Amino acid sequence: MLNIHPVHAFRDNYIWVIHNRRSAAVVDPGDAQPVIAYLQHNHLQLNAILITHHHSDHTGGILELLHYCEAPVYGPATGSTAAITHSLRETDRVRLEALSLDLAVLEIPGHTLDHIAYYGGDPFDMVFCGDTLFACGCGRVFEGTPEQMYQSLQKLARLPDDTLIFCAHEYTLGNIMFARTVDPDNTRLTAFAAAAQQLRLQQLPTVPTKLELERAINPFLRCAVPAIAAQAQRQAGYPLNHPEAVFSMLRDWKNRF
Ligand code: ZN
Ligand code: FE
Repeated sequence: MLNIHPVHAFRDNYIWVIHNRRSAAVVDPGDAQPVIAYLQHNHLQLNAILITHHHSDHTGGILELLHYCEAPVYGPATGSTAAITHSLRETDRVRLEALSLDLAVLEIPGHTLDHIAYYGGDPFDMVFCGDTLFACGCGRVFEGTPEQMYQSLQKLARLPDDTLIFCAHEYTLGNIMFARTVDPDNTRLTAFAAAAQQLRLQQLPTVPTKLELERAINPFLRCAVPAIAAQAQRQAGYPLNHPEAVFSMLRDWKNRF
């Protein structure tokens, strides 16, 4: 049985621990202490560290974890994370023997230029996508262009319907507020908003989310939907002729929201 557990860090980070009650892999350990506490409490052996991008809230705990135990560090070939021992590019695969888990690497630049995601299709569809796709939102475009970020989100959107999205932050309620402004008549969005509010009242995570749901409610995956494009255009005050232009405008609008 494969478990995927969110370890909380900082204000709103999730560090995902993938384990089978014996062995574990950890995704984006920005902080080592809460990860070590979880591993110890559950008697787990850490076998691998996976990194999606170079930001310190995703990498800051690597060295301390390596003091705690030895493990390979997988991460993007193009970034600046010195501790990476296994550099990854598009079409590379990560075979986590101890977890019987095989993950494919997707390059998804935009938030940062080095950003990658890890996709697995067995025992269920899952993707660890760091700060690129969030529940009902997406990451800020720091290093890439809006076009790159749009293409990266489209790449994630082509994964199977049932894919569980393991993103790295709890940003859902803020994202929903923005999404409802852009897409006020979306009934699935209204239902998701109610469900997410209930979860947060109980201090439970709203993630993972599912790709099929995201395609229905996430404005950043819906730039080609006429109602969304029209709303973005109204806000911009000038014509937006491509989904990329709609995306760029929505991302800008969200930054100021
Ligand atoms: Zn980041
Ligand atoms: Fe982050």
